[in-house]
Amino acid sequence: MRIPSLLPALCLLPAALLAQGNPNPVPTDPSRWPQHSMDRPRPPVVTPGLFVASPPPSDAIVLMDGRSLAKWRSADTTGPARWKLAGGYVEVAPGTGGIATRDSFGDIQLHVEFRAPLPVKGEGQERGNSGVFLMGTYEVQVLDSYHNDTYPDGQAGSIFGQFPPLVNPARPPGQWNSYDIVFHRPRFDATGKVTEPARATVLFNGILVQDDQVILGPTTYARRTAYSAHPDRLPIELQDHEFPVRYRNIWVRRLE
Ligand code: MG
Repeated sequence: MRIPSLLPALCLLPAALLAQGNPNPVPTDPSRWPQHSMDRPRPPVVTPGLFVASPPPSDAIVLMDGRSLAKWRSADTTGPARWKLAGGYVEVAPGTGGIATRDSFGDIQLHVEFRAPLPVKGEGQERGNSGVFLMGTYEVQVLDSYHNDTYPDGQAGSIFGQFPPLVNPARPPGQWNSYDIVFHRPRFDATGKVTEPARATVLFNGILVQDDQVILGPTTYARRTAYSAHPDRLPIELQDHEFPVRYRNIWVRRLE
């Protein structure tokens, strides 16, 4: 029997695994669902309670009050954030790129309010897509998930490409939604090996959708990526996925 060359198999290995010196393995999902599987069961729809607007707590760092983008810059450059500042909110200006906080953060409690665009356009991932990238690396997906089917690990409240939300409490487009996220950053030893993976708890419109979920690694589309050592603090990023999603009332508390 001919012994097949190992070369084709090696070519399929993610670049991160082959990256020189990275001691971390490419993770596997303990749920065993293939990434972005359309066969994965849909989280039950839950109607949330009424939205109650509330100002930030006294010890919060206010990142976005809807009147200024001073705490943000372009995620791709060091230049100013180019999203549209309007009456009390900030709207993604499609094609201008993501925005990143000027400050860096590790373990945090984060509050974000977002609104899917009206009129409704597109379907699946092509409807109101954006995202909250913790440490610029780990995405809590933002999507219009109201009567909009997509792969469950990519709907609103998912750890994108990894874990669907426990339920779907999305409000209709045009109404405000909230995320309250408790995030613990990954820990690395001196060799860059991950000693504690990142974890996230997410409340979506006040309803638990991620329960101290262990994050498998950095967010990537259609592949799994190994952890790679990074600083203890990094900026929070909001994604420009070409949809005019609105954000307001973003505040953070450091948990270090
Ligand atoms: Mg996204």
